[in-house]
Amino acid sequence: MELLYNSTRNKSEKLTASMAILKGLAEDGGLFVPEWIPKLSMDLDLLKDMSYQETAYEVMRRFLTDFTEEELKDCIRRAYDEKFDTPEIAPIHKTEDVCYLELFHGATIAFKDMALSILPHLLTTAARKNQVKGDIVILTATSGDTGKAALAGFQDVEGTRIIVFYPKNGVSPIQEKQMVTQKGGNTYVVGIRGNFDDAQTGVKKLFGDKELQREMEAAGMQFSSANSINIGRLVPQIVYYVYGYAKLYGAGEIKKGEPLNVVVPTGNFGNILAAYYAKQMGLPIGKLVCASNDNKVLYDFFQTGCYDRNREFILTTSPSMDILISSNLERLLYLISGEDDGKDAALMKELSETGRYRIDDGMRSRLSDFRGGFATEEETAKEIRRVYRESGYVLDPHTAVASCVYGKYRGESGDETKTLIASTASPYKFTRSVMEAVDERYASKGDFELVDELERLSGIRVPKAIEEIRTAPVLHDTVVEVPEMKDIVKKILGL
Ligand SMILES: *Cc1c(COP(=O)(O)O)cnc(C)c1O
Repeated sequence: MELLYNSTRNKSEKLTASMAILKGLAEDGGLFVPEWIPKLSMDLDLLKDMSYQETAYEVMRRFLTDFTEEELKDCIRRAYDEKFDTPEIAPIHKTEDVCYLELFHGATIAFKDMALSILPHLLTTAARKNQVKGDIVILTATSGDTGKAALAGFQDVEGTRIIVFYPKNGVSPIQEKQMVTQKGGNTYVVGIRGNFDDAQTGVKKLFGDKELQREMEAAGMQFSSANSINIGRLVPQIVYYVYGYAKLYGAGEIKKGEPLNVVVPTGNFGNILAAYYAKQMGLPIGKLVCASNDNKVLYDFFQTGCYDRNREFILTTSPSMDILISSNLERLLYLISGEDDGKDAALMKELSETGRYRIDDGMRSRLSDFRGGFATEEETAKEIRRVYRESGYVLDPHTAVASCVYGKYRGESGDETKTLIASTASPYKFTRSVMEAVDERYASKGDFELVDELERLSGIRVPKAIEEIRTAPVLHDTVVEVPEMKDIVKKILGL
């Protein structure tokens, strides 16, 4: 049966999966969601022996019903190949208390690769299917990791151009170096003087700019998005939860149907929403623990039912979670309101006008699967040190936030359910914060000295993604003020 997609803010217009991927964001500003969430209904005894690619096909074919088997398998094969440094694609690391699902083995060593290595293929396939003639221009805001993963994914992909906006002072030195050294004739990287929310709001504005759209059309171009607002990013993220559960079952760590809690370091709410979709598909996920850093707007939301972005934006050592407007929460609101598009639109209007909204008791009662938690900067550093000292395993700061929140949750609730922590970045991506957390005396060393020191400490070889940027020349140095975003896009596109 064909599964169609509609905007969270308007249920009456339905699109195919490929059109939803092409458009990225609905014209009314809403996010595309499937009409219903398909069931997995597959025996775990089959799933447990499947490769990542086979699992991906089983999950994705249920959502992307207008892709042929050949098209989808081709996308999967091109995405999950030797770009990943392990054939398992998403291996599980076990310590005494908990399992870490390592989502950072792709080209840019953060979990964004899980979806962004396939999105370009889904998008170009979708363009072909829908007879799109002109160039697709990917417009993306990044808090650090999406940018590089999207640039790597779209580099020299025919028929596409990609423009990435990042907060000039809001990313780690390695994250910035990874982006500004990006090669490719179709890649553009622009720093903005503002934070991630400014970048994301600016990009959403450009998507909604009718005048710009007309100029683009006249020049034979159209925008799409590589941010997690694109349903083509959410669907591939469901895969690793199914895969992780099946592998734990296969290894005898859990029994068939036994609940598995997940803890997810959260920013834009895309990763944890994928886990929630997996649960709706029938995967036996227990609690979903949403872990925040000092920007704990989501923690407060789960505590009180009130979402309030009117607060100071704090720069932390887990910059990919420095976000006050979590876009994908809108998809959750849609589900817990009983798919009430009017209610969703009203809440989002309130958010854009006042910066806050409160959900009603009916909606709150449907959040019982979720728990919120947060870790301060000090707690995060302490967690990195603790896990390293106890087991020799080095966590990146994002994963450390989740790991710390898990410890607090388990202590307070007494919940001993088997737990999987989403490990979202390699520690090499945040070498300075990680090394200073392990030992203060590293503070005086240079970035790449620390890289070599981390190799010695962790026993894990320096990833290719880091070796590549050691000596790579800076190719992008444009920095603009937030109101200049539209002008720079027009300049880049020659409009
Ligand atoms: C993007 C990112 C996150 C947050 O994921 P969301 O899907 O935006 O919630 C967490 N950790 C790392 C390392 C990331 O790159």
